[in-house]
Order: sequence, then structure tokens, then C-alpha cells
Amino acid sequence: MGTLDLGCAPLESYESLIEADARQEILSAAQSLKGLRVVHVNATPNGGGVAEILRSLVPMMRGLGIDASRWVLEADERFFTVTKRLHNGLQGRGTSLCREDVECYWLHNERAARAIEVAFGSPEILVVHDPQVMALPAFLHNSTRTVWHCHIDLTAPAEDIGARLLPLTQLYSRCVVSMHHYVVSGMPHDRVSVFPPAIDPLNPKNVPLSLENAHQIVARLGIDTSRPLVTQVSRFDPWKDPWGVVDAYRLAKRRVPGLQLALVGALTAVDDPEGVEVWQSVCSYAGDDPDIHIYAEPEVGGDETTVNAFQTASNVVIQKSIREGFGLTVTEAMWKRTPVIGGASGGIRLQIEDGVNGYLVSNAVECAERIVDLLDDPDRARVMGIAARESVRRRFLMPRLLLDYLRLFQQIVDGQFRQPERCTGTQAKALAGLLAQTRGSGVSPNDLAPAA
Ligand code: UDP
Repeated sequence: MGTLDLGCAPLESYESLIEADARQEILSAAQSLKGLRVVHVNATPNGGGVAEILRSLVPMMRGLGIDASRWVLEADERFFTVTKRLHNGLQGRGTSLCREDVECYWLHNERAARAIEVAFGSPEILVVHDPQVMALPAFLHNSTRTVWHCHIDLTAPAEDIGARLLPLTQLYSRCVVSMHHYVVSGMPHDRVSVFPPAIDPLNPKNVPLSLENAHQIVARLGIDTSRPLVTQVSRFDPWKDPWGVVDAYRLAKRRVPGLQLALVGALTAVDDPEGVEVWQSVCSYAGDDPDIHIYAEPEVGGDETTVNAFQTASNVVIQKSIREGFGLTVTEAMWKRTPVIGGASGGIRLQIEDGVNGYLVSNAVECAERIVDLLDDPDRARVMGIAARESVRRRFLMPRLLLDYLRLFQQIVDGQFRQPERCTGTQAKALAGLLAQTRGSGVSPNDLAPAA
């Protein structure tokens, strides 16, 4: 994949969405960072929240004169199967890796480091997103300072993965997580910054779309706009609990017979090889109910205006995650004043204040009750939607994330955070005991089934 060309996004475009003092701080921080060479590294060009964030954040940095680039891994399916297990392990599901898996992991990390050095020489700052190439700093020969930005829910990492993968954070000048709660054992506590992600209000996914237009778009996809609709927009991932959403819909439908459900999840994230299996499982779980609409096609979930239409046209948006670092989909729907019911997990608890700007639920029964409450009481839904939009405006729009990054870069440039001494690949492997000790053959498809 390599380097992506992202263009520039001028700060002026966001003028009406930024408070004057934040704007001033952005401009003055950017003044001293002009020309700074920064490279963001992640696993997939499309699909998933990190790709979504970088698509906007990098052009905004460039618009301020920072020489920011984005580099995306080139890897085979085996590698992404291994790294999805690491991702799952950090979110709490134990796993095991065979020797070839481990070799594959280290090989891709080393290759990525080489490719980045060839493409960029010695950038001043390298930001590695998520665990796919977390060991990369061990293979750099230059003086680049490195940041690990973890977007994953680190509430309860599985012991076998967390205890061995997280020590790789010691290779970095700085780590970034979305919540204080995610600063867990194994991380260098004195070198962690905490700031949550954000959405881009100028992305076609988030710009105002009239209800009429939204209805036309979803109607073309088979939704009956005269009846209520609940939607979950998500990759088909066990942590997003799509089976639980179907359960909640079925329970709510007993009280609201006309209810429809849309599950929108384009299978576009190359770093998520579980997607097809989960999608098939959910299709069979949904059975032949004509009011359950499952969209896995890239033409639907991969189209920003169509996602916008579902988030705008739905009476309620659900994000019933069991683990969620931070749910961009939650914030996207809240920005559209659509009431959101979120799983009471991870970052969603930061995004939703229960009963004020949305609802938090712990199971399908609670979720169904909240769906019915919101459908029965449109006034309450409207007030909640207004509160939701205001909370996003204050806390979760892209200029705020940009400013958090500029402050971090400033601190790095000022020398506040030292780059730990480079260790060799062998030392890094020793640090990550797990990745040198192997057993078993990994996750079986049965592990994807919903919890009983
Ligand atoms: N998304 C999308 N189409 C889909 C599924 C997801 O555009 O079919 C987008 C969604 O709108 C959001 C991002 O992918 O911007 C997912 O980010 P989130 O933080 O919710 O979850 P992640 O996939 O990173 O776990």
C-alpha cells in the first residue's frame, strides 16, 4: 500500500466550529511546528475508525504547514489474522499463536520499518496506530521519535497477550490512549497522554443531510420510511455484538410490530479477516425476517453519504459493543441529533451520559426497553438528540483532536519526552515474551459465536 496522498485541509474551513481561544492556540502551536516531518502509520486505508480519523487529521496537519504523511502497511492475510488475534487479546480474548504466526509478525514489523526508512528517511516523529506494527521502533536505525497511539479498549487485556505485548510500549517516547482507564499495567505510566478521538464535521458522512434526502437514500435500499428504523453501523466484529442487536430488535418488535433493523457494515477493512465469518453468522442468526436488512456491500457501508443517510433517517442508532476503545459511530449519530443507545463499555461511557445525551445498556433486554422508550416518546428522543449534538460539539470534533496532537508534538520537539534508547530486534523479542513463546494454533470459528 505505502504512502497515501491526502492533500491539505485549511483550518479556515472549520472556522465556525472552533472556539476563538482554541483556534488561536492551534495557530500558534502550528507556527513553531511548520515543516515538522511526521508520519502516521496504520494498517488499512479504509474501513474502521483509525482510517477514518487519519483521512481528516493528516490533511488538517498539512494545512497548517506540518509535513505530515500517512503510510499504510502492505501485508498478507496471514499477518492480519495474527494481528486481529493480538487486537482481540488486548480487548480481553485469550489466544495462542503458532511459531509461524510469530515469525510472520516480526517479519512484517521489520519490513515496515525498512519501507518507512526508504520512503521517508528520518522523519522527526513517527506515530504508530494500534498493535499491528507495534514492534516497529525496534527495527528503525534513525533518530526518529516514536509515538504509539492505541485506539483499542484496554479495560481488561487477556493476560497472555497484555502481559507480553504491552511491554513493547517501552520502545516509544510517548503512548496515547483514549481514556485514563486504559493506562494499564505494562505501559510506561509516566509517558502516556490521554485524549479521545474525534469526528470530522466536514466529512460527507457528517455534513447536514435533510431528512427527506436521507429517507430517499434508505428507501432505495429497501427501508420502508413510513415505519420505525433502528440501525447499527459497524464492522462485522464480535466485539460489536451484532447478534445482541438482533436480539434487542426482536424483543422490541414484540411491542412495536412495524420495527425495522438495519445492520450496515461494509467488508472493507483489510486488517479485519473475521468480518466475512461474522457477517455470515449474523445473516444466519437473522434468518428470513424481511424487516432485518443487512448490508455488507462496499456500495452501502463504504459510501459516506449512505452511512450519513442511515444515521440521519434512523429513529434510534445502536452501538451495542461489548468492548469499544471509542465508538466513532456513536459520536457520528449524536452529531446528527439521532438518539443513541450504546453498550456500557469502554469509550462509549465517555461519549454517552446515560439518560442525558443517550442511553447506556448492559444487555439486549435493556437495549430493547430503551428502543421502545425512545419510540414511544419522540419529545424525549428530540431533547436527547439536542444534548447529544452539543456534547459532540464541545468535546469530539476534529479541531480538538488536532490541538491535542499539536500539544503532544510541541512537547516532543521541546525535548520533554526522550526517545528510549533503541533496542535491537532480539531485545524487543525478549521484551515481548509472548511473541517468542508459542503454542496451539489460534482462534477457532466457534470463538466468534455470541456469548451464551
Ligand atoms: N463505517 C463505515 N461503514 C461501515 C462501517 C463503519 O463508514 O459499513 C465507519 C463508521 O462510520 C466509523 C468507522 O467506520 O467512522 C468505525 O469507527 P468506530 O470507532 O465506530 O469502530 P472501529 O471500526 O474503529 O472499531
